[in-house]
Amino acid sequence: MPEKIIGITVKKAENFSEWFTQVVTKAGLADQRYNVQGFIVHMPWAMRIIKQIYRLFEEELERTGHEPVLFPLVIPEENFEREKEHVEGFKPEVFWVTEAGDDKLERKLALRPTSETAFYQMYSLWITSWRDLPLKLYQSVSVYRYEKTTRPFIRGREFLWIEAHDVFATHRQALRQVKEDMENSRKVIWEKLGIPFLFLRRPPWDKFKGAEDTYAADTLVPDGRVLQISSTHDLGQRFAKAFEITYVDKKGKRRYVWQTCYGPGIWRIVAALISVHGDDKGLVLPFDVAPIQVVIIPIYYSDEAKKFVMRKCRRLYLKLKRNGVRSLIDTRDKTPGWKFNDWELKGVPIRFEIGKREIEQGYVTVFRRDLMKREKVEDDKVVDRVFELANEILENLKEKAKKFFESNIVSVKSKKELEKAIKQGKIVKMSFCGREECAEDMREATNGAKVRGTELDFKEGDYGKCVWCGEPAKYIVYVAKAY
Ligand SMILES: [Zn+2]
Repeated sequence: MPEKIIGITVKKAENFSEWFTQVVTKAGLADQRYNVQGFIVHMPWAMRIIKQIYRLFEEELERTGHEPVLFPLVIPEENFEREKEHVEGFKPEVFWVTEAGDDKLERKLALRPTSETAFYQMYSLWITSWRDLPLKLYQSVSVYRYEKTTRPFIRGREFLWIEAHDVFATHRQALRQVKEDMENSRKVIWEKLGIPFLFLRRPPWDKFKGAEDTYAADTLVPDGRVLQISSTHDLGQRFAKAFEITYVDKKGKRRYVWQTCYGPGIWRIVAALISVHGDDKGLVLPFDVAPIQVVIIPIYYSDEAKKFVMRKCRRLYLKLKRNGVRSLIDTRDKTPGWKFNDWELKGVPIRFEIGKREIEQGYVTVFRRDLMKREKVEDDKVVDRVFELANEILENLKEKAKKFFESNIVSVKSKKELEKAIKQGKIVKMSFCGREECAEDMREATNGAKVRGTELDFKEGDYGKCVWCGEPAKYIVYVAKAY
């Protein structure tokens, strides 16, 4: 009896939540059995994808003048206390270290939930003159938040991200940075990973605590909820004043700096990769971030055949390697069918199948995961075809994802239409009064529909009546259920 792989047993469209859990476990992304809630073990397949995603962001950040740093995991309580709104916002989520060995600590230490108050303490020492600006630093780390409900890659008590903390002499430069951050997200999340999103200006009550303005990217998960995958914040001078970060300008005058911070949510980008591109067979990875881009499966039924097949496999492997393609010959003691299923589950974008016929006739059977389709490619054209396919696969994933995303954004004119659209899992576009009470009332009545914000270039004006309360509307907003 051939050994059967236990694949995904539910359909993505029928039971998304269960599908997601099965992909996370069966594709070897995470083990949730670690015995502290909200802390997961990141398995090799996930870590190799994550390293690629980090690479894409870090390359782009460094290209635009950022440098890497690593700040301490612990932040003393007094740093937190310095910015009032920030501390109010984050306190309920902080893990505190209060003891060490047999000693009670004199002051509590927070495990960073985000690192503004660590960075800015030091920025106040480092920045003295206009010559020290701009200062653009980032770190790729995990952060810690005491979340009540947790889900791998979506909401955790420990999760991975990047945080960039930038400092400027003028507000204008800071605002330009906010744009650059959005461009950074677009280049990686959309261009390289094919995940569509809307960058929205969050309403005042949903800002990052301590920021003047928050801009965040929402993508849509197939269960009809949006997922924030990246955000950038205009911090104005709030932290500058709280931490006394000043510089002497060219005329010798002391001034407060202007600051921004930016956080691509690596964890949630993984969740989006799984959810947006995945299918009933499992993960579907874009070529650029696939840990293995081409898997080579030898197919033989005798020792004699094995020799020839393996020789061709090795030749192909070396050719791919020379061309910078991450590849692997799967020599495990399993049937070819089992291996096919296993790599399909893991989302490897391209597969070579090499058997007797491929050797006799001088071609490679090339399989692409996104369309589950095979083609014959002559031996000497196979590397070129791999690079073509890399693009074709990405374009196909982008097109499909964009279609799904855009077809799920609808404009509504009435309360009834709104309620119906939210039930169907849509992102709703509507006129809105701008009042927090109205947003709160709508959220409760619709079981979770939240005002996500306005488009970036949006101008306040007269937009008829608020779809929810009927008062005059000053905004056009996007509304959706959210993770
Ligand atoms: Zn209203």
